[in-house]
Amino acid sequence: MSNTTELYDQLCDHVSKTALLTSTSALLEWDQHTKLPAAAGAYRSEQLTFLAGEIHRRSTSSELGDLIGQLAQSDLASDPTSVSGCVISRLEKKFKRTSKLPVRLVEELTRACSTGQQVWVAARKENDFSEFRPALETIVRLKREQADAIGYDDCAYDALLDEFEPGAKTKEVADVLEGLRVDLVPLVEAIGASSIEPPVDILHRSFPVADQEAFGRRASAQIGFDYQRGRLDVTHHPFCTEIGPDDCRITTRYDDQFFSGSFFGTLHEAGHGIYEQGLASEYYGLPAGQYCSLGIHESQSRLWENLVGRSKSFWQHFYPDAQQRFASLADVPLDDFYAAINHVAPSLIRVEADEATYNLHIIIRFQLEQALINGDLAVADLPEAWNAKYQDSLGITPPTDADGVLQDVHWSAGLIGYFPTYSLGNLYASQFYDAAAAELGDLEPMFAAGDFGPLKEWLNTNIHAPGQRWSSTELGEKVTGEALSHERLIKHLKEKLTPIYQL
Ligand code: ZN
Repeated sequence: MSNTTELYDQLCDHVSKTALLTSTSALLEWDQHTKLPAAAGAYRSEQLTFLAGEIHRRSTSSELGDLIGQLAQSDLASDPTSVSGCVISRLEKKFKRTSKLPVRLVEELTRACSTGQQVWVAARKENDFSEFRPALETIVRLKREQADAIGYDDCAYDALLDEFEPGAKTKEVADVLEGLRVDLVPLVEAIGASSIEPPVDILHRSFPVADQEAFGRRASAQIGFDYQRGRLDVTHHPFCTEIGPDDCRITTRYDDQFFSGSFFGTLHEAGHGIYEQGLASEYYGLPAGQYCSLGIHESQSRLWENLVGRSKSFWQHFYPDAQQRFASLADVPLDDFYAAINHVAPSLIRVEADEATYNLHIIIRFQLEQALINGDLAVADLPEAWNAKYQDSLGITPPTDADGVLQDVHWSAGLIGYFPTYSLGNLYASQFYDAAAAELGDLEPMFAAGDFGPLKEWLNTNIHAPGQRWSSTELGEKVTGEALSHERLIKHLKEKLTPIYQL
């Protein structure tokens, strides 16, 4: 065995052992959000803090740095799309990024974000932006410092975006999202001017929770979420987490007076889960067995939730079962139900937005956070800038900051550069869907027959199995033969919404 191979084995061993700690920490967090007794919070917090410290120590240790340093110039690293090349180059990038951050800055950021979230909760409750303003000013200042410490070629925001969407460039993302905005605004206006109003009230009838749960389980299993290697539980804020190579947990919440929240939420999280279950288990914990980027992760949830789950053919298969389970749908024709679940209307709250206007919410946040980081916008002027953009893009002005600039947790938690990944997910979802259809043939008749296997397997092979061997931009181009673009998403939206609203 050559020296290089031995070093590589040591590197994989080190990182795999760290994964034992991160996955344990993930299990404790999952438990905290689903099962933890009310009085047990303080000790759980100690457990998580201790593990986080150990994980940080292992991830920044000189032992790891030495192994990476010795391997970075070796033959094993020469092809970044090979398994070993991917492992070494991704770990090197992450290690360099982490080592550039002074301990003082890391600690200040951790403290500012922990305080920031608490202050944000209170400020939102009080509907008082001025209460949150000093905390956000600190966070923006520290995030700018973080970007400077990491370094960038073009703009400071690049360094922040890179944490969530490795390799993506602000300018490219901004150009694509501006193209999307320019096409979306008139589409949403045309829908607003249409005399058709889908009967959304039918989604607010009675839907017993036990039936919702059974139906959600059936649909998520049928699209390919493997319940032998995963679970579905109830939580307040739905999420998906992975506890091990064969243990993926998804969560949802139920409202017995609303159908869509839980059902489409379950499909969404199952889409994330199918991605996690499709990663190469033999490389668990290593970059070759980890998700590519947040944008690609979100493409998988949005694809199943929107492109599949809100299609007519999906409901041609599932609607008879839905009508049998829910007496409140017995008198509702499929076409009415289909129009209702695809209803589009400008609204104030991002997480409640429909598939089309959702992207406008994201573009507003993306533009504002760039301006905050560039120094073009002062935190004090943020509420006014927020409201102006809502009026401009969605034609509505939030009556209060709680329904406006204070609605999301992200900035208070230091998550700047995260928002655009939601819309990137929508764009990639449409492009992947079309690429799959080009190879597999018309997918709709398969859905109508309840057969989701070909699409799931195509995603397994093309999107999931590669792990981090390509960046999201590279993976997108490799799989679709096209650059990232807004056009396929707009095409999908128009194809669906034109007949519903008779545009
Ligand atoms: Zn998601």
